[in-house]
Order: sequence, then structure tokens, then C-alpha cells
Amino acid sequence: HDCIYDVSVRAVATQSVVLVSFQDITHLEKAGQMRRDFVANVSHELRTPLTALMGFIETLRGPAKNDSAARDRFLDIMQGEAGRMNRLVGDLLSLSRVESDGRVRPRDTVNLTDILNSVLRTLKPLATDAGVTLEVDFEQTPVEVTGDADQLMQVFTNLIENAVKYGASGKRVTLRIERVARDAALRSPGVVIHVVDYGPGIDAVHIPRLTERFYRADNHRSRALGGTGLGLAIVKHIINRHRGRLRVHSTLGQGAQFSVALPSDTDASASETPSEA
Ligand code: ADP
Repeated sequence: HDCIYDVSVRAVATQSVVLVSFQDITHLEKAGQMRRDFVANVSHELRTPLTALMGFIETLRGPAKNDSAARDRFLDIMQGEAGRMNRLVGDLLSLSRVESDGRVRPRDTVNLTDILNSVLRTLKPLATDAGVTLEVDFEQTPVEVTGDADQLMQVFTNLIENAVKYGASGKRVTLRIERVARDAALRSPGVVIHVVDYGPGIDAVHIPRLTERFYRADNHRSRALGGTGLGLAIVKHIINRHRGRLRVHSTLGQGAQFSVALPSDTDASASETPSEA
């Protein structure tokens, strides 16, 4: 019932037969629908701050023209809205970049300890502002995988930023590195990086959809915190490019754990290809 067919009918006069062919075009239709949904979502996400900006410009030209207190307040709001558009465009560019080089395997040897330390340094001010302690639960010894350092930095930046933003009520975010002799999903030896928060957690119904573009478990909270809804979609694409897996565990009221499993053998092409995350 869920399939879409392209049906064509052809008469073969010399043999008095009629050929009817059915071509399954379900995947093409679905891809087309996803593209249309994506464009509609992007337009909506851009139009919201744009409409606010236009409204404030009009107010500043008219009723608030000579009200300096109102002008300062409106300019602050306008700066926030422009920032939202800027983040959205930045995330859209990242997404399109990671999608377009998704088929090219990363080849560099990268040290995950260095990457995590660097992300932690960058996010320290954000955590301090949110009153969250970033807890490091790993040795300062090199942990090497084959990967793309910039993209892996982006993965852990997005995950740790989310843990700080959404888990702030737990006041602590823990980072752990685990080496596994054989990861069942990767079918190879692996390294698993866990980002754990002790915040409100995520309802199980949302978990399978978190990596969809623009999917938000809590729309209001995400927007209030400046989220674009694209962070985990970017994370998923980068992890797929690394032949890794993203796993999410959460119990409502007890926090969330995002785990990234990466193959640790240096020749990534030697491992079997895991199915889509
Ligand atoms: P956003 O820009 O909205 O943060 P993401 O793609 O990064 O977008 O995350 C998608 C949604 O997943 C968020 O809107 C939020 O509802 C939920 N989420 C992500 N990380 C956490 C977390 N650590 N705790 C609770 N909810 C989370």
C-alpha cells in the first residue's frame, strides 16, 4: 500500500499482446517529498526572524523614533534575531558540506584526547555561564582513530553544547572515553566517547527522530536557547562518514547520554560497512 508505481502500457501489434510495466518509484517520490519539506522548513525558519526584524525596523522608524530606551531594547532584540539567522545559515552550510563529502572517507590519524580537550577549552565559558561543571573522566593519553579532526570537533562541540544547554539543571556534564575490543554494531574494535548529562532527559518517543533536520523534542526550549534544530543532523552525517554510530540513552528526569562509537582500526576500509544509523 505504501508503494508508488510508474505504470506504462504498450501494445505490441504484431503479437497481439499488451505489455504493462510497473516501475517502483517510491524512493524517488520520498526523496522529492523530503526535499520539499526541507525547503519549506528552511523558509519558515528564516522567515520568522526576518519578520521580527522587519517589524522592529518599522517601529524604530515610526512610533519609537524618539524613544531612546525603546530603541536600545529593540536593537538588542534585532541583534538576537540576526544572530539566529546567522547560526541557521552557518548550520545549513555545514550540513550541505558534510552531505556532499559524505562518500569520501576521512584519512587522517587524529587524537581524540586532543580533540576533546580542545572542545572543552572552547566550551568552558558557555558552561561557566550556565553554571555547569564539565567533568573529564578520561586519561590524558593519546586515543587515535582515522578521521577528520575539524568534523570530529564539530560532533563533540554540538553534543557537549547540547548537554550544557539542555542538561543545565543537572549542573554537571561528564565526558568518558571507552575502548572496546569489538563493537557489535561497528563489527570492529572501537572507541566510544560518552557525553553524559544529568538534566531532564528526553522522552523515548523523540529519541529515534532526534537526528532529523529541524526535529526538536521541546520546540519552545530549543528556540529559547537559540537552537537551529540542525545540530544532531550534522552530527549524524559526520559520524556516518566515519563509519561510526551514534547511540542515545535517556531516562526522563535522570539525564541523557549521547555515545559516539568510532572504528579504532587504522584501516577504516577494512571494516565491514555498518548499516545506516
Ligand atoms: P537544537 O538546535 O534544537 O539544539 P539539535 O539537533 O542539536 O537541535 O537537537 C535536537 C533536539 O534534541 C533539541 O531541540 C532538544 O530537544 C533535544 N536534545 C538534544 N540534546 C539533548 C540533551 N542533552 N538533553 C535533552 N534534550 C536534548
